[in-house]
Amino acid sequence: MDRIILIKYGELSTKKGNRNFFINTLYNNVCNSLKKFDVKISKDRAHMYIEFNDSELDGIKSAIDKVFGIHKYHIAYIVNTNMEDIKSKVLEVAKSISFKTFKVETKRSFKGFEADSLEMSRILGGVILRNISDIKVDVHNPEVTFNVEIREDRSYIYLNSYNGSGGYPVGTQPRGMLMLSGGIDSPVAGYLAMKRGVVVDAVYFEAIPHTSLDARNKVISLARKLALYGGKINLHIVNFTPIQEEIYKNCAPSYCITIMRRMMYRIMEKIVKKYDGYIIINGESIGQVASQTLTSMNCINSVTNIPVIRPVSCLDKLEIIDIAKKIDTYETSILPYEDCCTVFVPKHPVINPSIEKSIVEEEKFNYSEMIDEAVNNLNTITVTSNDEEFSDLL
Ligand code: ATP
Ligand code: MG
Repeated sequence: MDRIILIKYGELSTKKGNRNFFINTLYNNVCNSLKKFDVKISKDRAHMYIEFNDSELDGIKSAIDKVFGIHKYHIAYIVNTNMEDIKSKVLEVAKSISFKTFKVETKRSFKGFEADSLEMSRILGGVILRNISDIKVDVHNPEVTFNVEIREDRSYIYLNSYNGSGGYPVGTQPRGMLMLSGGIDSPVAGYLAMKRGVVVDAVYFEAIPHTSLDARNKVISLARKLALYGGKINLHIVNFTPIQEEIYKNCAPSYCITIMRRMMYRIMEKIVKKYDGYIIINGESIGQVASQTLTSMNCINSVTNIPVIRPVSCLDKLEIIDIAKKIDTYETSILPYEDCCTVFVPKHPVINPSIEKSIVEEEKFNYSEMIDEAVNNLNTITVTSNDEEFSDLL
């Protein structure tokens, strides 16, 4: 095998004390994501190396594109660290492609090598120019760049640089609980939290028979898409029907949404504590609807001390949609199934709710036992990105 995938770590290379933990987590995540391929994976402090079969390269690339913590990667030719071998490999690579302009860029980390970086680039440029006709060097805007990295044990030659997904490896932060609805925003929020290394589990509030099993399956599909980035997701399904019905029976219509969301947060807090989480994550975006004005957020958030992270809070809807399309959740999110939030929407939800009035309204029914009951009767399923396991669940 004379090619290898050469992975360069992302932001984690700045984490001095934690470096090994970050690299080991990334290594495990890469191994997991490539389980079904015939690969050999190794690592050192600066790089990860994947030996692969050519026929599987496309699949492997698309899998590692979903692993956070990778800054860049290259498909590199491996060559012995000696002048003649490097020259002949560079020439062989040059002859296998067509181009009019080029440059050579050398990085010599093995200082014992006989030529320094600039000298080596000049030597290799000369080899290419002498052996291939009708081409010239263009250092500013070349069609092809031959990158040569000279290390002590072996050297690498590559033409292309692929961007990895960046961020931190999932698992370098503990668990967060994502409020996952069937909408566009919450899957994007979950993706962005995972990108910072958070292990994401999800909570879906359903109100059967007011919401359907189709709506639930849509959320499961979204969790499965997110599992491509996080490995696996525990999805806790909350039976929200009794609480929701009590709210609509007892509370002032304009406050129903505010109170419903305060109940959701109370339930989230208990689930976070029960399953060793540290934060609540959701898809709220400032000003998007009445319950997401700053006054609403303040009133709703006041029922919990657990940090609520809102990764899309400052993005425009179109920016959120762009990410949803990129991570392939958009088409699922726009399927037209009702959500528990949309079933009972009052005509005039309050835009600037007060905490005092919310408390008065919610004391009209005995919610604390109902909340405990909802948390004690979660329906939890584990969703993975694997097709077969997924279809078994449905
Ligand atoms: P849309 O993309 O249409 O805005 P949404 O899911 O963002 O859909 P919102 O009404 O804006 O819906 O709700 C704000 C946030 O509250 C959601 O992003 C989600 O995190 C959470 N949420 C709403 N409904 C539910 C639900 N049924 N289960 C779990 N979380 C929910
Ligand atoms: Mg929204």
